[in-house]
Amino acid sequence: MAFLEPPPDLIKVREGMHNVSASMLRPIARKYDEEEHTYPKELDAFRGIQVMGRPKKKKDGEKKDKPKDPNKIGQNLGTIVTVEEMCWGDCGLMLSIPNAGLGNAAIAAVATDEQLERFGKKWAAMAITEAESGSDAGSISTTADLDGDSWVLNGEKIFVTCADRCDCVVVWATVDKEAGKAGIKSFVVEKGTPGFTLDHLEHKLGIRASDTGTFVLNNCRIPKENILGSPEVKQTTEGFKGVMKTFDNTRPMVAAMSLGVARASLDLTREKLEQAGEKLDYSKNPNNCSARQKDYYMAEATLEAMRLLTWRAAWMADNGDFNNLEASMSKAKAGRGGTLITQKCSEILGPLGLTTKELSEKWMRDSKILDIFEGTGQIQHLIIARNVLKLSRSQLQ
Ligand SMILES: Cc1cc2nc3c(=O)[nH]c(=O)nc-3n(C[C@H](O)[C@H](O)[C@H](O)COP(=O)(O)OP(=O)(O)OC[C@H]3O[C@@H](n4cnc5c(N)ncnc54)[C@H](O)[C@@H]3O)c2cc1C
Repeated sequence: MAFLEPPPDLIKVREGMHNVSASMLRPIARKYDEEEHTYPKELDAFRGIQVMGRPKKKKDGEKKDKPKDPNKIGQNLGTIVTVEEMCWGDCGLMLSIPNAGLGNAAIAAVATDEQLERFGKKWAAMAITEAESGSDAGSISTTADLDGDSWVLNGEKIFVTCADRCDCVVVWATVDKEAGKAGIKSFVVEKGTPGFTLDHLEHKLGIRASDTGTFVLNNCRIPKENILGSPEVKQTTEGFKGVMKTFDNTRPMVAAMSLGVARASLDLTREKLEQAGEKLDYSKNPNNCSARQKDYYMAEATLEAMRLLTWRAAWMADNGDFNNLEASMSKAKAGRGGTLITQKCSEILGPLGLTTKELSEKWMRDSKILDIFEGTGQIQHLIIARNVLKLSRSQLQ
């Protein structure tokens, strides 16, 4: 049974983050949407501050502790609340906060002490996707060959978030194509390594403050010690499953991003409705409301469902429960719900919802990606179906 009553400490975190977001992110949201690819220098203020939670490293065989006090804020739930507030301010800027890349979470989860020493303070992006491999991450073709004391990497990685601004990239590559998923490992590649080139940055529909780029790895030689986890290729997919498990923590985080953007949109819509004399009155039967008010209530209900699913997935992660199903449910619901809510709000606002006078049109653009990265909505539905029907990946694809 999930415990979803926000404890007082969590409410304090939420309020603090809300103030930071309102005063530091929201005021520059439009500026960096228009100045795509420009680094928001204001974000330097966040350097050294841990915004996204990082999993604590566990020793081999060590079991996760169950929090004894249900009021204790777990790291995942704390991060979810923080991320929602930051994305209420601006999602593209939140994704550009120094040292809070997805690669940082991967490093923190599996790095050795020596690797943590070398990479722990660096800004790390994550490069999985390739031109022929997106949803099916197990089919990547970038290779890593051991040559003396080095790994030699070859391939191309597309759509890498923080590509320009990061210090290093966690690159997924196969050490043995014949082994399929069992051969997939991750490697830390530092910027400036010969053979590692940022080819170009994308121009995007939304989250334009966040830089997304393509890397080419051409005989890129990195130290043997830069492999994360064991180099051994076991003839099972356990290793790959382990890497995929990090998604069970990061998918609720993306769901929380969607919550933040959708809530921003609802807040503005409520303000404008009330300014227009349409005060929301929850005591009224929805059948006696205006069509706009009814639409607003429906959107609010969707937001609440998104939040409950997201908090449940995070709470389970904090309590050491297997949450693969619930993480995908949260991502599927919030990804889709966020796009529907932001569109509906722009619709309710009429012309104001489409002009750049307000941020509503931007939130509509920003929300779309949240139904795509970290696994599209369709892929989340597949995962949910596999869990519910107890079918394997090969039985249901
Ligand atoms: C702005 C942005 C930032 C990104 N950041 C990163 C990053 O930092 N690191 C990284 O590695 N990747 C990143 N990505 C890539 C992202 O994770 C992929 O785009 C996503 O996983 C989908 O893969 P794809 O684009 O190859 O689409 P495809 O896998 O080709 O899918 C295309 C469509 O087909 C659907 N589809 C595919 N397979 C199935 C199926 N079996 N059943 C039903 N429908 C299916 C999909 O849902 C989708 O609608 C980013 C993408 C964008 C746009």
